Amino acid sequence: MAAIGHAESAPMSAAQALAVAHQSAPAMLPGRSYWLKLATQQASVQIQAPKYQINVNTLEHLAAKRLELNAIGVATLSTDKPIVFEPYSANRDLGGFILIDKLTCATVGAGMVEFALRRASNVHWQAVDITREAHAAQKQQQPRVLWFTGLSGAGKSTIANLVEKKLHALGKHTFLLDGDNVRHGLNKDLGFTEADRIENIRRVGEVAKLMTDAGLIVLTAFISPFRAERDMVRAMLPAREFVEIFIDTALAEAERRDVKGLYKKARAGQLKNFTGIDSPYEPPPSPEIRIDTASTTPEDAAEAIVATLLAS
Ligand code: ADP
Repeated sequence: MAAIGHAESAPMSAAQALAVAHQSAPAMLPGRSYWLKLATQQASVQIQAPKYQINVNTLEHLAAKRLELNAIGVATLSTDKPIVFEPYSANRDLGGFILIDKLTCATVGAGMVEFALRRASNVHWQAVDITREAHAAQKQQQPRVLWFTGLSGAGKSTIANLVEKKLHALGKHTFLLDGDNVRHGLNKDLGFTEADRIENIRRVGEVAKLMTDAGLIVLTAFISPFRAERDMVRAMLPAREFVEIFIDTALAEAERRDVKGLYKKARAGQLKNFTGIDSPYEPPPSPEIRIDTASTTPEDAAEAIVATLLAS
């Protein structure tokens, strides 16, 4: 695949570039973070949705939501820290880069920087006097993100709701972000394709982070099927603030419960990209907390989660 992109973030971390995917790599997904290697530098980078794809035969610009294997397109790239680069046309060494999958370490693409985006140097981080520490101190609590993940119908909402009730009763300041509710508002423009699911989780991660900046204990109940995005949210937060809670329910059991009748629809082919049926779920290899719902009632699960939190 090939992509031309713009990179953006802090000063010197914004540019437009051309990237080319490796033969064996899967699609390059907007919103997912990859490692970018440029000369001797390495940074975490996100590719925004492609501006367009290029038809290599006619040089026509085509609309594209993501860049598939061997596709060439233009997209914006944002690195998490400033890097030194130059347009590829001026300096091949400082204008060429490769993109590496963080989990598999496979090279997913290569690219050429076209130009820096001015917004990167014009948008500054505004310092505020009431810091996140001040917000947390006033609430007398350690902010956290309790990130519930698991199949649809696993029990995320049920258990998260009970945990929030218990924390609330203990005088803690909490907020529950529920997948379905967020999709009615902030994320109502997103569907369930792989790219949209990644963007869904990225936005939820940003919102959760803002809420921890405000001193809250945030509970999120999203399937969040991909390990890369859960790890991305973990990396956004200070160490120990992200608590991954795997609500472990076998697919057969979640399907038997079929709380919202969605498995039935998916099996009947009326619902595409349904997790566990025709879209993958990647279980967390080492979550902070794992709840086996076959052997734990919702009440006991909530009790165990609160006890773990209070002890840490
Ligand atoms: P999710 O938010 O993961 O999609 P929900 O919480 O909406 O799942 O639904 C889970 C359903 O499973 C609820 O109806 C809940 O009462 C039921 N359930 C049965 N046993 C358990 C258990 N041990 N833990 C959590 N939920 C359970």
